[in-house]
Amino acid sequence: MSTHRTAAEAAAADKSKPYFPLASVTQDGYSNEEEATATCFCGTVQLAFPTKAPGLVDSFICNCTDCHKLTASMFGANFVVNDDYLKHLRGESNLTQWSNSTTIGTPNTMVNFFCKTCGSLLYRRGTGFPGHSILRIGTVDDFHLMETVLKPRVEQFTKDRVSWLKGVEGILQVEGYHYG
Ligand SMILES: [Zn+2]
Ligand SMILES: [Zn+2]
Repeated sequence: MSTHRTAAEAAAADKSKPYFPLASVTQDGYSNEEEATATCFCGTVQLAFPTKAPGLVDSFICNCTDCHKLTASMFGANFVVNDDYLKHLRGESNLTQWSNSTTIGTPNTMVNFFCKTCGSLLYRRGTGFPGHSILRIGTVDDFHLMETVLKPRVEQFTKDRVSWLKGVEGILQVEGYHYG
């Protein structure tokens, strides 16, 4: 039986097991003991990332002003991967880059890698942490991982969090930049 499910089945899904909702048109993501996939909205770009240390470094929520703009929403849900363990399964040439140092909450230049077709942000790279990429939890195909290995450990830039959202309970709350 396929582990891919329709939206109707998703509501009742048991998220304690691998769970692949209909969230990407290609529907060919996977997860296993070693690695899992992250795919853009249109499916052109697909990455494989490690699901354990040392390749998987950390996971965090960010409320900084950049993350508002970048996500077109209120915060970013991110995880950090060592580039030695990051694979581009397809679509690397379909990524477009845009970098900026003006708006960053830290003295870094951040390079953002977007799918040219659908605009999904796949990852960011920064001068402050060479050799690492910051991926987006929302691009991960197995939603079970959001409940487990990718569950954020830190929430940062709480000073910029919109007043009508509460922080994530039970994780470290940091007013500004945590990784400095
Ligand atoms: Zn895309
Ligand atoms: Zn941020």
